[in-house]
Amino acid sequence: MFALHKGDCEHCFRTFRYTLLHAGFGDFSYAYCDSCGMLATFNYSNSFLVKMPRASATHQVIDPEWEQFIDPCECSGHFRAGASPRCVFCNSTLSAEHAATHIERNTINARGWHWQGNWTDLYCIAMEDPKDPGNLRQVDDPFLARRARTERPHKGIWSQVLSFGR
Ligand SMILES: [Zn+2]
Ligand SMILES: [Zn+2]
Repeated sequence: MFALHKGDCEHCFRTFRYTLLHAGFGDFSYAYCDSCGMLATFNYSNSFLVKMPRASATHQVIDPEWEQFIDPCECSGHFRAGASPRCVFCNSTLSAEHAATHIERNTINARGWHWQGNWTDLYCIAMEDPKDPGNLRQVDDPFLARRARTERPHKGIWSQVLSFGR
């Protein structure tokens, strides 16, 4: 479903593979883990979003107000609006300016198209896990587990309200 491209790390010079995701086509907001660089996407079709603070802008990085609603990453880091993707080998944060070289080279149909030059606009990057080839370091909607736990008491409240009407 996705095409992997080759990129290089400006710190350790190793070659990784990644895919570039378009938040408009995918209809999501996103954030990176501040510890391992994993990508989290938050799809707008998820009914949970009505309970979130209204996003100031769509199809880009999340608002910082969302951070408190998001589960920790599996590495125990946190998905944050200001975090950057990281090299899967040396874990250094990757420069969006350095990445322009390989991203613009790899993007077919690139006439007149320029890389956005940051990690917060329309395009986000998911790295291939070198320990699990063919799979991306990306997680969908990681706020769901926590909300399912906190929502349970509300069912009890509603049943009490209904009983008053009888
Ligand atoms: Zn590296
Ligand atoms: Zn992480």
